Amino acid sequence: DRIITATSHLDEERQDRAIRPKRLAEYVGQKELCAQMEIFIQAATARKEALDHVLIFGPPGLGKTTLANIIAAEMCVKIRQTSGPVLEKAGDLAALLTNLEAHDVLFIDEIHRLSPAVEEILYPAMEDYQLDLMIGEGPAARSIKLDLPPFTLVGATTRAGLLTSPLRDRFGIVQRLEFYTVDELTSIILRSANVLGISMESQGAFEVARRSRGTPRIANRLLRRVRDYAEVKSNGIVTETVAMQALDMLKVDSNGFDALDRKLLLTMIENFAGGPVGLDTLAAAISEERGTIEDVLEPYLMQQGFIMRTPRGRVVTQHAYTHFGLDVPRAFGV
Ligand code: ADP
Repeated sequence: DRIITATSHLDEERQDRAIRPKRLAEYVGQKELCAQMEIFIQAATARKEALDHVLIFGPPGLGKTTLANIIAAEMCVKIRQTSGPVLEKAGDLAALLTNLEAHDVLFIDEIHRLSPAVEEILYPAMEDYQLDLMIGEGPAARSIKLDLPPFTLVGATTRAGLLTSPLRDRFGIVQRLEFYTVDELTSIILRSANVLGISMESQGAFEVARRSRGTPRIANRLLRRVRDYAEVKSNGIVTETVAMQALDMLKVDSNGFDALDRKLLLTMIENFAGGPVGLDTLAAAISEERGTIEDVLEPYLMQQGFIMRTPRGRVVTQHAYTHFGLDVPRAFGV
């Protein structure tokens, strides 16, 4: 009966919404960014203007969508959400833009994946709140200009470098999200546990935080799995021991690395003598897309000092050898 009583996908979505911070004051960490945004938002509100366009970049799960929603809430305006790949034709974006009300937020996730035709429409819209549209085809085609209400575009992307420079230059505010510290993740987990009614000891939260790869989305996901484990294998209370056992069962190791992280590091060590190895070669070797390595795996492994980028390709550091209990090669001078 576990399968029947297990939380459904829909329940998880509802829970996701419940634990997502709604205001800037609830947004944990990213202190500098929050302090800046607070000032920009207050200033725009006082001038009765739309907030300048905001570009947020950072690896998946660090809080880009959450921040976009918070910006709208703090500005007391509505938010409309879409994503780069969804906007196929110029008309798709035009329809969204013409439906905005003054000062509304338009959130475009994966903004680096806009088609060139759609991006063209965005430039005058961002700069002069103007829509330039071509109507009809061939000799009968003509262009029309429409005025748009002043609005705020919030764009999210995993890496700022993926954007074309004309698009990047049109954002007045550019914010980069950093990986969260263990303490910050601990408070995110304790807050989520509280909202979801999970009995969580602070040592238990700390253990989950330590293994969450610096990422709130992973922290919240592990929290749910640890809760399942605590309910079935123990009395429902997430202690440090319960958290450790659950995470070991989930094969999340002491550094928070999952199976894919380990596969990448071990492949580099075992098949390429620690590197340097090119990104495409590595992608083929572990059967993953290049983008997944660059956006999901590498940022955290680099931040933690397990791999480095060199002009000739990626190399592992001695920490990677020590992590797996392997002898550190002499090249490291040990
Ligand atoms: P992204 O858009 O960058 O992929 P999300 O905004 O969807 O990430 O965040 C993933 C989850 O992590 C959210 O559901 C939210 O509950 C949580 N989260 C993200 N950032 C924070 C934060 N600063 N404080 C608390 N929880 C956060």
